[in-house]
Amino acid sequence: MIPPPTHEERRRGDELAIADAVSHGITSVQDFSDWEDFLVFEDMEKEGALKVRITEWLPFKDPLSELIKMRTHHDLDDPMLHTGFLKGFMDGSLGSRTAAMKAPFADDPKNSGLPQYTQAQLNAMAVERAKAGFQLGFHAIGDKAAAMALDAYAQPGISTTARNRIEHAQVVDPADIPRFKQLGVIASMQPNHLLTDMNWAEDRLGPTRAAYSYAWKAFLDAGVPLAFGTDYPVEPVTPFRGLYAAVTRMNESGTKAYYPENKITRGQALYTYTQGSAYAEFAEKHKGKLAPGFDADFVLVDRDLYKVDAPAILKTNVLETFVAGKQTYIASANAQ
Ligand SMILES: [Zn+2]
Repeated sequence: MIPPPTHEERRRGDELAIADAVSHGITSVQDFSDWEDFLVFEDMEKEGALKVRITEWLPFKDPLSELIKMRTHHDLDDPMLHTGFLKGFMDGSLGSRTAAMKAPFADDPKNSGLPQYTQAQLNAMAVERAKAGFQLGFHAIGDKAAAMALDAYAQPGISTTARNRIEHAQVVDPADIPRFKQLGVIASMQPNHLLTDMNWAEDRLGPTRAAYSYAWKAFLDAGVPLAFGTDYPVEPVTPFRGLYAAVTRMNESGTKAYYPENKITRGQALYTYTQGSAYAEFAEKHKGKLAPGFDADFVLVDRDLYKVDAPAILKTNVLETFVAGKQTYIASANAQ
């Protein structure tokens, strides 16, 4: 019954979301909003008011002709705003037991989740879109969903240099991890999910599968390209909560650990949030590190993330954010 937002309401919402992002040190976002929002971002860009670089995903399930129309609408080489990969959904979520699993949930023995495609449907759509030059990214929470995505990517006609992605990859059969590397598939993961999911993930999965869920280190050890993000607004936008999760695999109060063998180092986590994510959007030659000739996208924070105690990572404050050398946020002017 809620009417769709007016243009003004949409603009206001987008402004608030971007303000939240820059105040937490975000310089580039991958976004999956409505096409109308992309048009709002275009307005902001024309006014010189766009404060983050935006790559807008397009819906995998849309007809190919529509997708091509949207792709040609805006310059793909525009460094502030352009369309990106096609986001498809293989399954649902672990919390709601709609993740597609190879075996039933431990706490719901008759249910193994809800795949959104048959393999045949998925394969045909994936090949058609890949041949039209689109990068693909499939949301996959369960091990069956990840396997379906990998099977689609393994087809002849889909290149191993297309940097196709699997979003979330929360539960992946250890036998499937080497296939990411073989097929050049990026594991795009959000470590902050663990802080929410660790409250019930073990109930859903049972101990065997829980032990290999959210397996950041296993992906890195297998040589799989890894990219980190936050999945905002499912989780808060701050990357520091995810950084803490990646290096501790503990809850925020530090009282409970979740299979700590899959934690990674601070250097690995910071690399994955910056250069890893730049690689995933074909931007690693100019984005993701501070070097001559690279984009001047950077933040100032109030502590040394390599040296502070792990719990102090959670309290990191962003003092200033810069995009393309221009200040997009300063803490004192925005103090609450
Ligand atoms: Zn998703």
